[in-house]
Amino acid sequence: MKRKGILFIISAPSGSGKTTLCNKLVDSLKDLNRSISMTTRPPRSGERDGIDYIFIEKEEFLKRKKKNEFLEWARVFDEYYGTPKKYITHLISKGQDVVLSIDVQGAMKTRKLKTRAVYIFIMPPSMSQLKERLISRSTDTKKAIAKRLGIAKKELSYLSKYDYVVVNDVLASALENLRSIVIAERCRTGRR
Ligand code: ADP
Ligand code: 5GP
Repeated sequence: MKRKGILFIISAPSGSGKTTLCNKLVDSLKDLNRSISMTTRPPRSGERDGIDYIFIEKEEFLKRKKKNEFLEWARVFDEYYGTPKKYITHLISKGQDVVLSIDVQGAMKTRKLKTRAVYIFIMPPSMSQLKERLISRSTDTKKAIAKRLGIAKKELSYLSKYDYVVVNDVLASALENLRSIVIAERCRTGRR
């Protein structure tokens, strides 16, 4: 009996470890794919076009948005981010599960569209540890870190809109919790 793929929508304040966890999650389970978002933000050092993100110009992004090519999109930290719809629809129809790592605004848009998905929120252990992680990642200026921390507080207030919460304190335990959620959702009845 073949089932349709499941969409896992994962949000977290920037610096919580969402990218680290999502990459490990996808590597650790079969038939689980990471959606690659399009963004207008410039690549960080070490990021690869077509793997971490698809990096595009603002005009190109707006053109695609107009053509309704995104499942959802959002403006985050003054840059555009969007989830290409075609690739995901294709995977889901083939019974492949997909992980979307998107911000709270984007996740709330998909909720409004009644997109069938499992919503997971990743929390940092504390605001001070979140700040430490952003500093240790060394990818953002002091000003950008202050902005991300301000937005984090707002994002945390959306926690109750998600189906699950995972606190990313010890990485291995957080990964185990995420894996358990995916495995349990795959066993749910009514997915055929
Ligand atoms: P996000 O995608 O949520 O912005 P990242 O995955 O880039 O966050 O993680 C931010 C920083 O925190 C990175 O330097 C990462 O290596 C580190 N990190 C992630 N998870 C943990 C953890 N459980 N404990 C300590 N550091 C972590
Ligand atoms: P970053 O610039 O740190 O990679 O990402 C900033 C924020 O944008 C993160 O919360 C990340 O999850 C979110 N993001 C990445 N891709 C998308 C997307 O396609 N849609 C939305 N709504 N948010 C995204």
